[in-house]
Amino acid sequence: MNEQRLLQTFLELVRISSPSGQEAPVAAYIGARLAKLGIASELDPAGNVIARIDGSGQALIFTAHMDTVVPCDAVNPVVVEDIIASDGTSILGGDDKSGVAAILEAVECLVEDKLSHRPLELVFTVKEEVGLLGAKALDTSRLRARMAVGLDAGGEQGTVVVQAPSQDSLQAVVHGKAAHAGASPEKGINAIRVAAEAIAAMPLGRIDQETTANIGIIHGGSATNIVPDTVAIRGEARSRDNGKLEAQSARMRAAFEQAAAASGASVDLNIQREYSAYCLDESAPIVQLVSRAMRSLGIEPKLMPTGGGSDANILNAEGIAAVQVSTGMQNVHTVQEKIALADIAAAARVLLACATL
Ligand SMILES: [Zn+2]
Repeated sequence: MNEQRLLQTFLELVRISSPSGQEAPVAAYIGARLAKLGIASELDPAGNVIARIDGSGQALIFTAHMDTVVPCDAVNPVVVEDIIASDGTSILGGDDKSGVAAILEAVECLVEDKLSHRPLELVFTVKEEVGLLGAKALDTSRLRARMAVGLDAGGEQGTVVVQAPSQDSLQAVVHGKAAHAGASPEKGINAIRVAAEAIAAMPLGRIDQETTANIGIIHGGSATNIVPDTVAIRGEARSRDNGKLEAQSARMRAAFEQAAAASGASVDLNIQREYSAYCLDESAPIVQLVSRAMRSLGIEPKLMPTGGGSDANILNAEGIAAVQVSTGMQNVHTVQEKIALADIAAAARVLLACATL
């Protein structure tokens, strides 16, 4: 492992701006780095980068996403000893360029040291941050491996995310009736009030150990002297148990429908499954492989659940058993984002061990 090269790769990657939908320059960087190693890569129709490296044994996917959240147009990384941070005016982009860098370093080591390894498929996705769209567009029938190691998690070294929730998104538009608020309020149906009653009536926040719900956006009304006829609401619910998620989404739906019916309003509701839960236990071959790889490096694996979705949700739903391994990213999606080089290097070593064990 060449930690200086890894640092250089990471710094080069974070300096390339890549908000969701504008990943092409990062894709080109990855393609060029792989080409230098004699590894061909291709872009799928969605813009995901896919590369295959021959080997023997059971095939394995390494995956990370190329896009970052904003602000990311002029990332100026600051390195103080072992810690890489943004300068406080942007995110750093360690989510998920630390994962990209770790994969590239692991592959460089395999090629450079001519190590014998299992067949590898590298998958670098687009638009993860805006709804896992790159992973959703992936044609997984073209992938040979049925196991994947993702590098898109935080936490101390050894963290392996083996469980993640399902998520439903909710969009509601309440239609009331406009009227002059001073002259004839009785002729109106106040859509904001109907929405407020619905929201107040539904369970929100932490529902139980594995279920959460939130109303995050409300938008409506045009003037204080008009009874508002429209209000739009967006929210979500998550659970690691699909039955509980369905029950929660049904309660949210019922709250809107009952509040609307009680006031003579109507509601257009759209509740959609964004991604499905997964839960891998210790006996799953991918969990065993990653755990063995970590122990071979003196790192104790910590199998953890998460409250967020990732590309691993999509892969697991497609029949590819996928976990997320921590790269040590911290304070992601904030301008205080930082990461320790030692943690990215540890993730790269885990990949190397997974490939060669
Ligand atoms: Zn991420």
